[in-house]
Amino acid sequence: MAVMDFLDEELKTLDAEGRRITLRVLGGAQEPVSVVDGKRVVNLTSNNYLAFTNHPKVKEAAKAAIDRYGVGTAAVRSIIGTMDIHLALEERLARFKGTEAALVFQSGFATNVALCQSLMTSDKDLLVSDELNHASIIDGARLAKSARKVYRHKDMRHLEEILSSPEARAARRRLVVTDGVFSMDGDIAPLPAIQDLADRYDAFVMVDDAHASGVLGKNGAGTPSHFGLTARTQIQIGTLSKAVAAIGGYVAGSRALRDYLVSTARPFLFSSSHPPSVTATCLAVLDILETEPEHMKRLWANADAFRKGLKALGFDTGLSETPIIPVMVGDTQKAKKMSALLFEEGVFALAIGFPTVGKGKERLRTIVSAGHTPADLDKALAAFSKAGKAIGLI
Ligand SMILES: *Cc1c(COP(=O)(O)O)cnc(C)c1O
Repeated sequence: MAVMDFLDEELKTLDAEGRRITLRVLGGAQEPVSVVDGKRVVNLTSNNYLAFTNHPKVKEAAKAAIDRYGVGTAAVRSIIGTMDIHLALEERLARFKGTEAALVFQSGFATNVALCQSLMTSDKDLLVSDELNHASIIDGARLAKSARKVYRHKDMRHLEEILSSPEARAARRRLVVTDGVFSMDGDIAPLPAIQDLADRYDAFVMVDDAHASGVLGKNGAGTPSHFGLTARTQIQIGTLSKAVAAIGGYVAGSRALRDYLVSTARPFLFSSSHPPSVTATCLAVLDILETEPEHMKRLWANADAFRKGLKALGFDTGLSETPIIPVMVGDTQKAKKMSALLFEEGVFALAIGFPTVGKGKERLRTIVSAGHTPADLDKALAAFSKAGKAIGLI
């Protein structure tokens, strides 16, 4: 047997468990209606919340940055990979989030890993995490040197039980980390209760607003803004890869937090910085976010209309209270079948099975965009009605 033959075995296992991923291919820009695998479909699958991925003003800004700064930095931030435009974006993000300072990383994933690893450096520390937090927080916690505890999803009694335990009280530092909007269910973290408990038990809070930035709060500033907690929440994480339509992640918080991470965060120190066109894209999107509230308004109108439409057809949309709207199916094969039927009807919605979600919680996940027209959403609802009946869900 050849030394790499184990890969064929592993692939067979993935096939047997229905976990093999095949890549779908966009034949053009990411748009509310996109060409996917050669077919034009209403796209209910991307995180392009505000339809900025192909926005003319944003593309112009990226092109102008290439002319002025070139295409790449060829260095990490801490050596010679920091351009003035990188600092301009960080100042702008701090203002946007209502914090003293911000620091950009290569991705939201890298940001979460960096924060957990840099802040939780001893087995005397304790990281406390919601069970449905994003994979990048789970991996960050694995790289942290601290103890970890997981509380049941949004269960504040369980969180208090953990924070009030002798082990937590004896810890050197206590970090409570939560998604702001949960990526599979589209529900919002109870941030006021989390912050109250953290304050009571001398913990600090990190909220990952990957799905809330550009979606919730003032001009899309996220869940702390949404709940009026900006001055209290110690650490805000955002992504530049979803509503902001480029790539990257950032942390917003105190000046001391930024200064500390600049000297310690391993993804910051050992991985190169963003091309300036990416940075210019983000600045252009922030300009639009702060001057054109109609995009967010349309996003929420579309989300509310689509959720209402699905419910009227008899679907269970789970815990959704944001533009992330699951359609609960309860079986991986059925969810896949329904996704395929929808695709035939010109609608793309992703099937999500175990282990990404728990057994019995298999679903289609839909994400509407500000760019969907009423006709797009009507077409999607008609397709859901037909496909849902075909698999006996409604
Ligand atoms: C998407 C996502 C990330 C990762 O962000 P990227 O910028 O795509 O790396 C982190 N956290 C949450 C909650 C996410 O949904």
